[in-house]
Amino acid sequence: MSPDQLIRPEILHLSAYHVPDARGMVKLDAMENPYRLPAGLARELGEALAGAAVNRYPDPRADGLKAVMRQAFAIPAQLEILLGNGSDELIQILATALARPGATLLSVEPSFVMYRLIAEFCGMRYVGVALTPDFALDETAMLKAIAAHKPALVFLAYPNNPTGNAFDRAVIERIVSATPGLVVVDEAYHAFAGGLSFLDDVPRHDNLLVMRTVSKLGLAGLRLGYLVGAPAWIREFDKVRLPYNVGVLTQLAARIVLQNVAVLKQQAALIVAERARLAQSLQQLADVQVYDSVANFLLIRLPRAADVFEGLKRRGVLVKNLHGTHPLLADCLRVTVGTPEENRLFLDALKAELDTRS
Ligand code: PMP
Repeated sequence: MSPDQLIRPEILHLSAYHVPDARGMVKLDAMENPYRLPAGLARELGEALAGAAVNRYPDPRADGLKAVMRQAFAIPAQLEILLGNGSDELIQILATALARPGATLLSVEPSFVMYRLIAEFCGMRYVGVALTPDFALDETAMLKAIAAHKPALVFLAYPNNPTGNAFDRAVIERIVSATPGLVVVDEAYHAFAGGLSFLDDVPRHDNLLVMRTVSKLGLAGLRLGYLVGAPAWIREFDKVRLPYNVGVLTQLAARIVLQNVAVLKQQAALIVAERARLAQSLQQLADVQVYDSVANFLLIRLPRAADVFEGLKRRGVLVKNLHGTHPLLADCLRVTVGTPEENRLFLDALKAELDTRS
C-alpha cells in the first residue's frame, strides 16, 4: 500500500505551502508587523496568561473575545462574526461549506495563493482571472468569467497580495451585483489601507462578506482571523467550524491586546510612514520599479530579480521572490515594510547586490 493508491489525486498533485527557514535573517518575507508589544502590555499579557485555565477546553463561541473585537474593529451590530485559526482557516471553512459538486471558486491572478490551493483540496473547481498588466481588475474578463462559471464563491483581496494595490471600488460593487454566489472581500491588509473597506457595505448586499485577520496588525503568532457577515450566512459556516478552533491562550491574549488596539494601530501608522520612506529610497535606484502600495509591503520589479533574491539571502535579508509565480510578476520581488533599521539593512544589501551586477 502506498500513498498514491489512497490519497485523492488532486492532493497528490499539490505541493505543500512552502515556508522558508528565516532563522537569523532580516525577515521581510511574510508581512509581519516588525514591532513587539510595549513592555507594560506584554507584562499584563504574561500575568493574564499565567492564570489561564489550560486544563479546560476554550470557550467554543468565544463571546468575550468577539465583544472586544466588535468594539476594536467597529463591526456593525446587525452582523455576526466567525472566528478562524487564522483567516486561512476561514477560507477553508467557506470552501468546505460551498463545495457542492461542480461548484466554482473564482479569484484573480496574481493574488493570495491559498484561494486556489484550498479550492483544490476542498474539491471546488478553481478559476483565476488575470489582472491587467498594471494589476487592476479586468472588469470585462471578470464579468465574462462570472457569467460563464457562475461561481459559488469569489475572493477579492483588498488591498491585493502580492501587488499591494486596492482595486477600484465601483468595479468590485459591479462584481458583487453580477455574482450569483458569495463575494468575500479579504481585508487582511486593512490596517495599512487608510480606511478603505467594504465592512459598512455588507448589510446592503445579501451576498457580500468581509474577512480580516489580526496577523498583519501585529498578532500573527496568535492565529486569529474573522469573517463578518449576515447572521444567516455565519450560522451555516459555523457548522463547519471545528468546536475549539481558537485556543484558550489565543482567546485570552487577543482579548487583552485588542482592548488596547490603539497600540497596534499606532504601530500600523509607523509602518505606513516607513512604507513611504522605503518606496522613495527604492525609487531612487536606477533599474528598480516600485509599485504603489496601500498594504504593509512593496512590490518591486528589477532586472534578474531571482538572482537578486538569492544575493539578498546570502546577505542575510529574506524577501519574497515572485519571479516565476505568474507571468505578470516576471522579475518581481515583494518586500515587507520593516523597522527603519531593517529597511536600511535591506536597502544596503540591495544596493550592494545591484552594484555587483552593474
Ligand atoms: N489573506 C491574504 C490576502 C493574505 O495575504 C494572507 C496572509 N498572507 C491571509 C489571508 C492569511 O492570513 P492569516 O491566515 O495569517 O490570517
